[in-house]
This record gives sequence, C-alpha cells and structure tokens, in this order.
Amino acid sequence: MTVRTIVTIPQPVLRRKAARVTDFGPDLQKLIDDMIDTMRAAPGVGLAAPQVGVSRRVIVVEYEDPEAGIPHQLYAVVNPEIVAFSKATEVGVEGCLSIPGIVGEVERALTVEVRGVDRRGRPFSLRPSGWLARIFQHEIDHLNGVLFTDRAARIERVSPAEAAEMDRV
Ligand SMILES: [Zn+2]
Repeated sequence: MTVRTIVTIPQPVLRRKAARVTDFGPDLQKLIDDMIDTMRAAPGVGLAAPQVGVSRRVIVVEYEDPEAGIPHQLYAVVNPEIVAFSKATEVGVEGCLSIPGIVGEVERALTVEVRGVDRRGRPFSLRPSGWLARIFQHEIDHLNGVLFTDRAARIERVSPAEAAEMDRV
C-alpha cells in the first residue's frame, strides 16, 4: 500500500465529474488500499478518488465518535449515490484536504441515504446521520466536481495548527 499525493486546488481533476467504475479488478483494489493509507496519513476522515488525481467514483470514509455512540467504522464505497436527503439540515464547519488553510460553514442534510457497491461489487447501503452524513455528502460532492467552498457561507482562513485539530475530508 502506498500513500499517494493529495492534489489541491486548482487541479482540474477536482472539478471534473468522475467516471463510474465498471472494473473491480486489481487496479481498483490497489486504488482503494492506497486511498485508505493516504486518508490515514493526512490524517483525514474521508477521501474521494479525485483527491488523489483519479477521476473515478470511489470514496473512503473512516470515522468514530465514542461520545455519540458511533463505533469505529471504515467504508470504501464505489459508485456511491445519495438517494434521499432529510429535510432537516445542520450547519457545520468543514475543511478539505484539497483546499488547505480555509474552513467554512456548510449547511447539509442531517440524514442521508447512501447507495452504491462495495469494493467487490456487492450492494451497499447506509443511512448516516450527523457528522458521518456530512462526510458522505462532502465526499460524494467531490465525485461531481463540487467543493465545499461552492456551498459554504462565511469562509475563514485557519492556521495549520488549527486545521490539524479538525476532522478533514
Ligand atoms: Zn474534501
């Protein structure tokens, strides 16, 4: 497994709509393993393939929040789609590994329904809420060339030390 370089704005790959995955062979398996390593090294809690320069519909998410009763979870989702958004929304402060040095307040659905397939092509579905739902929305936006700054109100600069305190995606 390999830690790949995280691409940052204004790399055009971050603005492209990523292609659906149809081949679940060794290249995809290596991409997913490398994305997990890259996310952990950053460190981050989510990463989309365009962030390592690969315009394919793949995301990885790793998250835990013991205080909220959410155990450690690692997801690799291929061709993910959000098929339902709750009407209820929440404003939270987001940063992005591909946009160093800034954060912004983004309004997101509180709960979403995500469908896709896992790394072997088996159907996957999940109904995350709260921060986990925010991570999935942020990563799936990346697959459509959308960055959090497109949705954010009140963008602010942060120092590297402040950025390191955040869950980055
Ligand atoms: Zn991001």
